Amino acid sequence: MSGTAIITGGAQGIGGATALRLARRGWHLLLVDLDETALAGQASACAEAGGSAETLVADVRDLSAAHDASERLIEVRGGIDALVNAAGISMPKTILEITEEEWDRVMDINLKGVFTWCKAVAAHMAKGPSKRIINISSVNAHTGGSPTAVSKFAYAASKSGVLGLTRGLAQELGPGCAVNCVCPGLIETRLTRELIGRVRSQMEEATPLRRVGKPDDIAVVIEFLATVEPNYMTGEIIDIDGGRWVN
Ligand code: NAD
Repeated sequence: MSGTAIITGGAQGIGGATALRLARRGWHLLLVDLDETALAGQASACAEAGGSAETLVADVRDLSAAHDASERLIEVRGGIDALVNAAGISMPKTILEITEEEWDRVMDINLKGVFTWCKAVAAHMAKGPSKRIINISSVNAHTGGSPTAVSKFAYAASKSGVLGLTRGLAQELGPGCAVNCVCPGLIETRLTRELIGRVRSQMEEATPLRRVGKPDDIAVVIEFLATVEPNYMTGEIIDIDGGRWVN
């Protein structure tokens, strides 16, 4: 069954891999991102994969852009079936290093950016039937961040907020819409490439499945959450980390 989805951060990485998976099922996608060049390449890849994609160069913090784009998509396509909130940034600074502006920025993009797009589609999604919202948090929401350079406490705090937002919206938007969340471990994308170059063998050794994750390892689960029928799952937080933080 094909549908229509919005994917923030859809230009590359985990959002991009998710776009390709849904495109292969014939879905129409609105890819939202700041990276115009990567967006154009991803839209072409989606068309080649058998779907269709339009792009929106916008900051996920912009609520009016989210409202306008969602309304237009509902009008033109007749509805939105899924929203995937994949846009995010890292924040490698410690409490002693971080500025107030940097704290605000990571909270604004990683947490408010999820609120923004959920808010824009909420009324439509609540009407159902069988709509889906999938948020991307991180295993760092459980661990508080890692000693590596990619994420420390502020990133972990923003991603912990996404867990609460997911659980709360699952209650508010049912029965029309299921809201679930995935928590990736270390996945090789633009965000982490430099770090992985330094710690790959150490990470592989510490991970039961003995490899660093790829965007498609996360996209396959998001695809499942977006398409599984019947669906009786909402408010769930799913860790996908090769067993690295198994407990
Ligand atoms: P990525 O950098 O490849 O993709 C993120 C995308 O978000 C980029 O295309 C970027 O341009 C876009 N983006 C950033 N800020 C934006 C903004 N303000 N408005 C619109 N678009 C914006 O990174 P990724 O690894 O694919 O990350 C995707 C999500 O997964 C993020 O939320 C990230 O925190 C999360 N995550 C990643 C990892 C990992 O190891 N890569 C682990 C856990 C969670």
